[in-house]
Amino acid sequence: MDTSVKTKATQTTVAGARLAADRLWPIRYKPLPDELLSSWLVRLAHGHGLKVQTFCNAIFGERLQIWNRDIDRIAPPWLLNELSLRTGTPYSVAADTTLRTYEGVLYRKFRSAGPLHWILVLQMYHRKRLGFGLQFCPRCLADDETPYFRKRWRVALLTVCSVHKTMLLDRCPNCAAAVAAHRIDFHRFDPVENTPVSFCHQCNFDMRTASAAEPIFYDGSSFALLLAAGDRIDGDAGGEWALDRFAVLHQLCRTMTARYKHVGLRNFVLGQIGVPDIALSQGHISFEMRPVAERHHLLLLTAWLMADLEPRLRAAWQRRAVRYSVLTKDFPERPDWYGRIVAKFENWRDRLQ
Ligand SMILES: [Zn+2]
Ligand SMILES: [Zn+2]
Repeated sequence: MDTSVKTKATQTTVAGARLAADRLWPIRYKPLPDELLSSWLVRLAHGHGLKVQTFCNAIFGERLQIWNRDIDRIAPPWLLNELSLRTGTPYSVAADTTLRTYEGVLYRKFRSAGPLHWILVLQMYHRKRLGFGLQFCPRCLADDETPYFRKRWRVALLTVCSVHKTMLLDRCPNCAAAVAAHRIDFHRFDPVENTPVSFCHQCNFDMRTASAAEPIFYDGSSFALLLAAGDRIDGDAGGEWALDRFAVLHQLCRTMTARYKHVGLRNFVLGQIGVPDIALSQGHISFEMRPVAERHHLLLLTAWLMADLEPRLRAAWQRRAVRYSVLTKDFPERPDWYGRIVAKFENWRDRLQ
C-alpha cells in the first residue's frame, strides 16, 4: 500500500475510534449566529484536529460523500440528526443552518434540484465549485472571534453587507477562486485547527485582509429599498418585504436581461437614471449564477422600477421597452397586485391613449 493511502486509512480509523467512543463528540461547537452548515462542519472537523475529509469519512463512512453536492441546500436529515446528537445541539438549531429555512421567504417551495429563486448556484463539479455561489464580507470575517460563513451570504439579492454597508465579495481577491472552505486543508500539512475558514483554499490568502469597497448606488431610494430587502433576510421586520415582493423583484430582474426583440427594459431604466451599463456575462445564465457586481447593478436598476412601480413600468411600456407577455412569462404564481398592474399593459392599443 502506498504510504499516503496507509496514513489516510490509519487517520480515519483513529479518528473513528475517538469519535465513536461516546455518544457526544469531544468537541461540540454549536452553530454560530446565521452560520452555514458547511462552515459548521469544517469548524467541527478542525476542532477535532482533523482534516475535513478524514473527519467526514470517520463519521459518515467513505461511501457517503457529502462534499460533491450543495450540502447547505440539500442537507439530508441523517446528517443533521448526526450533528445534532453528537454535538448536543437541538435538531431545529442544526436544521436552521440550511438554505431550506428560506422557504416561504425567498422562494415559495423548497426543491432539492433545479433553480431556486435567490439561492446562489455553486455549480459543483465533483468536489470543486465552478460557480461563485458563496459570498463574504471581509470585515465581518475580520471582526469574528472565530471566522465563519453566514447563510445569508448564499442569497443572490444580497450584495452589500448589512453590518458594514460595504460590498460583499464572491471570490478570492488574490487568485479569483470561488470560496470553498471544505477544501481548505486539501494541500495543507500544518495543524488544521490553526486554519480559520477565512483562508483561500487555493492560494492561502487570508480573506479577512481583503479590502472592502463602498457600494455604488444610482439613486438613494432604490438603494434604500435594497437595504430594506436585505434586512428582511436578516430577520428584521423589513417593512413591506415579503415573498410576493421578492417574487416580483425576481421577475423584473430577469426581464432586465431578457433578450427579446423589441424589449429593452434595461436600456430604458439606464436612460431614465442616467447611468451607463456594465459588461454582463453572456449566454443563458440565471440571475443566481451572475457575479456580485452584475447582480448589484441589475438589482439597483430593478429597485428603481420597484420604488414607483406602476408609473415607471407604464412609461417603459409606452416607450415599447417592455411587453405584457415578457412581464408575465414563466410567472404563473404572480401576486394579485402585480397582476393588476401589468394587466393594464395587455392591450398594446391602450398605449396610445
Ligand atoms: Zn460585514
Ligand atoms: Zn486565492
